[in-house]
Parts: sequence; structure tokens; C-alpha cells
Amino acid sequence: MPGPLRVVELIRVQMPLRTPFVTANDATSVKEALLVRVETDAAVGWGECPALASPEYSPETIDVSHAALRDELGPRALAGEAFAGPPFAHTALEAALLDASLRAEGISLAQHLGVSSTHVDAGVAIGIASDIVERAAAYVAAGYRRVKLKISPEIPLEYVRDVRAAVGADVAIQVDANESFRLSDADLLATLADWDVQCIEQPLRRDDIAKYVDLAALITTPICLDESIDSARAAREAILLGACSVVNVKPGRVGGLVEAVQVHDTCVHHGVDALVGGMLETGVGRAVNVALAALPGFTMIGDLSASDRYFDEDLTEPFVLEDGRLRVPDGPGTGVEPRAEMLERYTVTRERL
Ligand code: MG
Repeated sequence: MPGPLRVVELIRVQMPLRTPFVTANDATSVKEALLVRVETDAAVGWGECPALASPEYSPETIDVSHAALRDELGPRALAGEAFAGPPFAHTALEAALLDASLRAEGISLAQHLGVSSTHVDAGVAIGIASDIVERAAAYVAAGYRRVKLKISPEIPLEYVRDVRAAVGADVAIQVDANESFRLSDADLLATLADWDVQCIEQPLRRDDIAKYVDLAALITTPICLDESIDSARAAREAILLGACSVVNVKPGRVGGLVEAVQVHDTCVHHGVDALVGGMLETGVGRAVNVALAALPGFTMIGDLSASDRYFDEDLTEPFVLEDGRLRVPDGPGTGVEPRAEMLERYTVTRERL
């Protein structure tokens, strides 16, 4: 860290989503985000805590992250001490400190990660909705090269077939069940192979690793793990057991960018596919995900969408589709920062530690 840490600020924003996002477990119509802003003698840095408002995806809700940052991680960092804590909170502070450090050195996050790709393929995740086929077709027409469809036992899987028919053979289709199926549904899940589904994400409960091994023997669609993988160690174990052949990597879930890169490296080492997942981030967190996704082991297209897939106005300069791809920011640090007028419009609370 160039110069001592002077300031840690916690900023809560609420941004209306253009369309509510519905998964097997929850529905989100307003994206609530927690930003961490740090100031050193040399630079300002920003990080986003990607925790959600409700506890279905992770028991670390945004309120839990906020309390941890305010009461533990923030004060420790200000005191110059090492900090540990819940993964989403840790991710935000780690990202803000790294951003400040890289800005002070004039180095981009992409350079820091050693990536050379200037763009990454864009993918879109589509929540459960009655018009999912039309939405998928519209996103593909806009240039998206992959669609991820949320699935649950409550809705017929045949709509995956309808989406395949609508988008054609060249678009990657992934599905994400968010833990909503059981091993006894294996026959049903096996039908996904008929529609050339690239992977099925987290069909069973996150702690049922042994059942994933059984499921992998019963279906041919590759299994991707998301909620189950909270560290590089967990990724290694799941891969060695044969529980998955794809890993969804989200910095927030594994405690930050450093661990996310280690998960990536683990996947490369074992020759399994990986993709970068999304948590409906604002541009602050999206910039990190886009740079991460430029690493060569991310062999499948991730949840990397343009800003306008979620928001009428993003906090940062918007990420836009360029021929179905997103540009990897090349400015110092993450290369993006919140615009003052957007921050003013969407901020709910702001506290300086
Ligand atoms: Mg998922």
C-alpha cells in the first residue's frame, strides 16, 4: 500500500433494475449495493460488495457485510492490521485497496493480472419469466454469445428446447438451478442433453458433493458448481472427486480477487472449464469481473453483460456491447469509478469510519 490508509467510507446505493431478476429462490427488483471507498495519501480506490439483500444465495446478506466492514474489517485496515471476515465484505475492501494501490502506480487491473485480451465475450443470465424465449432471442439479436437460463422444478424444462430453437445452434446455452433439484430428478435433468446445453449449474444442494458425483454418472451435460465452491481448496476437492467439470468463479463468493485467481489457476491445473459468474454488480464490481474473465482459463462465457442489461444508468460509465463483447478497462486500477451525479442519485447512506 503506497502511503497509509486515511479513509474508509461505506456507501449504500439502491438502483432500480430494468426488469426484476427471478431465480429458483428469490426475486430482485432493486439492486442494493454496498461500495467501499478508500483514500490513501496517494490515491482513491473503490470496491463493490456483491452480497445480496436476501439470504438465499449466501447467509452473508448485504447487512451482514456492512456490519462486518463497519465494525471489524474497516477499523482493522485503518489501524494497519491484517483483516479477515465474511467473504463478500472481504472482497469489497480488498478490491478498494488494490484499486487505490494500482491507481497510485498507474497500473491497470488487467496489467496486474497479466491478461492481454482486450475484450471478453458477453453473456447474459435470464431470470425465470413467462417471456423467457422472447427475451433470450432479443439478447442474442443484440449480440450476446451465451445465455444462461435460470431453471427450477416448478417450471417445465422444455422451455430450454424452445430457447434453443429461437437462438439457433451457435449460441451457448447454460442453465442454473440454484440448488433446486434433487438426485431423484436425474432422468429429467438428463433431457437437457437433447438441447445442447453447455453446462448445468448447481442443480443440487451446495453441501451434497457426494450426490454430485452420483449425478455426474447419470447425465451427460457437464455440471458446473457455483454455491458449493467457496475457496480454491473446495474447487480442487470437488474436481478431484468428480463432482463437477466446470467451476463458476465469483470473487465475492470466494473472498476476493486473490482467491478467485487461485480458483482459476486450480481449474487450469486440473484441465476443467471455468466461467466468471455475476451478482448483478454495478460497473464498479463489473470492471473487476471483466478483467478477471480475460484470464485464459475462463474457457466458457460468463455472466458478463453490458450495463444496460440491468440498469438505465450505471454508477460508472456504462459497459457496452461491442460486437457481442465487452472491452477490458485499461485505465489505472479498475479503470472505472462512480460518476458523481449517479452516486448522488442512488446513494441511500454514506458513512466514514
Ligand atoms: Mg449460479
